[in-house]
Amino acid sequence: MDEIAVYNQPVADPALIACLHCDLLQRLPDLAPGASARCPRCNKELWRRREDSLNRTLALTLGAAMLYLVANSVPMLGLTIVGRDASTTVIGGAQHLWENGDQIVAILVLFTAVIAPALQIGLMLAIVLGARREHPPRWVGMLLRHHPTSRIWSMIEVMMVGVLVALVKIADYATVIPGLALFCLGALIFILAGMQAAFDPREVWERIRWAEEGARRSAADDRGVAGETS
Ligand SMILES: [Zn+2]
Repeated sequence: MDEIAVYNQPVADPALIACLHCDLLQRLPDLAPGASARCPRCNKELWRRREDSLNRTLALTLGAAMLYLVANSVPMLGLTIVGRDASTTVIGGAQHLWENGDQIVAILVLFTAVIAPALQIGLMLAIVLGARREHPPRWVGMLLRHHPTSRIWSMIEVMMVGVLVALVKIADYATVIPGLALFCLGALIFILAGMQAAFDPREVWERIRWAEEGARRSAADDRGVAGETS
């Protein structure tokens, strides 16, 4: 049996939006790149048009993906204590935590510093590549809805602060050698922030193919004809 889905009818004016913070209905003006529109009632920024958003986001996302791969495949820290050398990667650190009985901390480190950033970068890459197609498919919208969750759980900067505090504390007892991964993670924090800042979700939503696209097109054409004759 075929599944029957009924979709709501959108309002005819695509510039009409409701403020996310105070619900005021208003029209978004056509903005120049870099300009922003604010709600006249609560003064929250409703939309900022990013300059060349899709291309810049794609470039930053590819940069982030390369840094991420390097950061997770080379040592993050090296230690020398009384002639013994040891070094570990981010995943190796989580594994040590697990073996030493801190299973919950190990899972949190693995999730927030390895899995969530990978999801954040992977989803963004899929969204931008999908949105650059001539008719972006509807799964781009589904990924776009879930992307903020991966961003919230991606906490490389928190792990960096923890690692730096630990480094200062053990510097008196051992010789600490910062690994290449530590510098990659430091750069990754800024690239990820740049990637989010360059991204304009509104531009992607505007390009995504709708359900009942044909019906919507013909309805819009009818309105156009009616508008011309009246
Ligand atoms: Zn408002």
